[in-house]
Amino acid sequence: MPLTLALIAHDKMKPVLADWAAEHEAALRPHRLVCTGTTGGVIAARCPSLDITRVASGPLGGDQQIGALIVEKRIAGIIFFIDPLSPMPHDVDVKALTRLAVVYDVPIAMSRSTADLMLKGGLIAP
Ligand code: PGA
Repeated sequence: MPLTLALIAHDKMKPVLADWAAEHEAALRPHRLVCTGTTGGVIAARCPSLDITRVASGPLGGDQQIGALIVEKRIAGIIFFIDPLSPMPHDVDVKALTRLAVVYDVPIAMSRSTADLMLKGGLIAP
């Protein structure tokens, strides 16, 4: 069944998420992907076959837009590759998004190994 999945990556992690999406492009293809602005552009350039909707860039409110979609129960899973080694001007937005994912019990993968587990666990059927 097609799902809506959120894909987000901080700047240093965008190549990692683009690699992950390319590796799993066939599994992601049936799904609708919602991405923050810059992440969506990077993934679309790498994986042109994917159905990507871009919201605003994360620091400009994109994380909050995805948070609102979580509240509206329109997101089935989140892949959010955070950069744990860089300070973020929008740290509070990142915290709000991850908090809402837990409040609404939406699966959230914050690293490549967890995203792989999400795939193997069957949420994103290969
Ligand atoms: P971006 O936003 O994809 O627009 O860079 C991601 C973020 O920093 O939260």
